[in-house]
Amino acid sequence: MAKVRTVYVCQNCGAEHSKWAGQCSQCGEWNTLVEEISQKSKVKSQKLGGRTQSASSQVVRLSELKHTPQSRGRILTGSGEFDRVLGGGIVPGSVVLVGGEPGIGKSTLLTQVAMKIVQGSTSRDPSAAGKRASSRHAQDDEDDLKSISSSSNKQGEVLYVCGEESVNQVGLRVDRLGEMSNDKDQMTNLLLMAETDVDVVVATIEQEKPVVVIIDSIQTMTTGDLTGMAGSVGQVRESALRLITVAKQTGTAVFLVGHVTKEGSIAGPKVLEHMIDAVVTITGERTGLWRILRTFKNRFGPTDEVGVMRQGEAGMEDVVNPSEAFLEESQQGKPGSVVVVLMEGTRPVLVEVQALCVKSQLAMPRRVVQGVSLNKVQLLAAVLTKQCRLPLGSYDVFVNVVGGLKVTEPAADLGIALAIASSVKDKAVSAKTAVVGEVGLLGEIRRVVHLEKRVKEAEKLGYKQVVGPADYTSVAETVRKVLV
Ligand SMILES: [Zn+2]
Repeated sequence: MAKVRTVYVCQNCGAEHSKWAGQCSQCGEWNTLVEEISQKSKVKSQKLGGRTQSASSQVVRLSELKHTPQSRGRILTGSGEFDRVLGGGIVPGSVVLVGGEPGIGKSTLLTQVAMKIVQGSTSRDPSAAGKRASSRHAQDDEDDLKSISSSSNKQGEVLYVCGEESVNQVGLRVDRLGEMSNDKDQMTNLLLMAETDVDVVVATIEQEKPVVVIIDSIQTMTTGDLTGMAGSVGQVRESALRLITVAKQTGTAVFLVGHVTKEGSIAGPKVLEHMIDAVVTITGERTGLWRILRTFKNRFGPTDEVGVMRQGEAGMEDVVNPSEAFLEESQQGKPGSVVVVLMEGTRPVLVEVQALCVKSQLAMPRRVVQGVSLNKVQLLAAVLTKQCRLPLGSYDVFVNVVGGLKVTEPAADLGIALAIASSVKDKAVSAKTAVVGEVGLLGEIRRVVHLEKRVKEAEKLGYKQVVGPADYTSVAETVRKVLV
C-alpha cells in the first residue's frame, strides 16, 4: 500500500505545514493546526486503485430512484422516546452522534438498543410489527421475519465496537440489563469487538454487513495513516469520515458515542457536526433521575424533538408521560411554585418553576438560575419592579426548573414572573392552575403558539384553569388577581 502523506492544516487560514506547531506561522493563531491526509496523496491513491474517472460524475434521474434511504423502512430501537428524537426510528445507512457527559448513560442506552434489535422485538417497518403482533402461530412469525430479512442487511445483527472497555465488561452490562427478560439464545446476533483501529472496524463492517454498528467511543478510534493521538481533532475527523463512507456504501446505520466535557468544549464531536446525519445529546444531572434526549441536527426528522427517560434499575426506561413524572413531587399551591405548560418539540409538557426570593445582605443582590436563562430572569425582575412595584432591588432571587428541563420558550415568561412575585408576596397560585404567556418589556402579556394543545394537555392532567393571554392583559393585573 502506498504510504499516505499527511499535512498539518491551519483551521483558521488553511495554510499547510509539514510539521505540527503550536502557532500557525501564516496567520499567527494558536492551536489551529490539525493533521489531515494530503490532498495530493488522496488523488494518487484513487488513481492507483484504477478509478481514473473523468471530471463529470454519474447523474441519476429522480424518477429512476427507488431505494433512497428514506424510502426504506426505519429500524425501531425499542425505546419510544429514542425513536421520537431520531424522527421515528433508525434510518439505514445513517450516522448518528450520541453525545453527553461521561457517565450520563450513553453506553447503557445504546447497549439496550443493540439488545432490542438483536432480540427481534423490533422490525424494519411498523406495518410488519403490526402484522407480527396479530399473527397467532409461531410459523407466521418466522415467515414474517424471513420477509423482513430479505433486504441486503442481515436481520438483527448488531456490531458493538468497544474502544474503552473490554469485551467482558460490555458482556457484563448486557447480562445486567437483560436480567429480567433475558434469553441467551436471542443474543447470538450481538457481535462484540474490542478494537480502536478504525480501518479494522471498517473492514469488519464491509464483511459482516450488520444492521447497526455502535462505536463506543469515536474519541478512541485511530487510523494508522495519521500520526496524531487518539482523540485529536485530526484522528476523530478522519475516523468518522471513514465510518460515514462505509455506512453509506453498506446501508449499515452507525452510532458514534462522543464524550462532552463538563466545560462544554467538545474535544472531537463538535468538529463532526457538519459531517453526520444527526446529533442526539443526553443531558441531566449525573446523580439525578431524569435524562433528557435532544436533537441538535437531524437530516431525517425534526430538530426540536425531546425525549424523556428515567435512569432505572434495569437501565434507561421511557417516561411515557413526562408531565406526570415531572409533577410527581411538585410543591404547587405553595408560594414560589408555578406550573407552566411548555412545548417540547411537538408535545406539550407541564413543568414546575420554583422561585425563592429573600431579603439580600449584598449591595448587588444575587440572581441564581437553573434551567432558565439569567437574562430572562433579570428582565422579568425589572418588569416586576417597574409594573408591580415589587422591591426586587433588595431581594436575592433564585429560580429553578424542576426535573432538569431547560426552558427557553417565551411562553414560560408569565409563569416565571408569577413564581417570583408569589415568593416575594408570600402568596400562592392555587393548585390545579397552570400558566402560559409571553411577557413584553412594558408588562403586557402576549399570545403564544399552540395554546389549544397546551390547554388540552393541562386539562388531561386535571388542571382546572390555564391562566394566560386570554384572561389578563398585563403582568400587574395577573399578579393582583391570581395570587391569593
Ligand atoms: Zn493559519
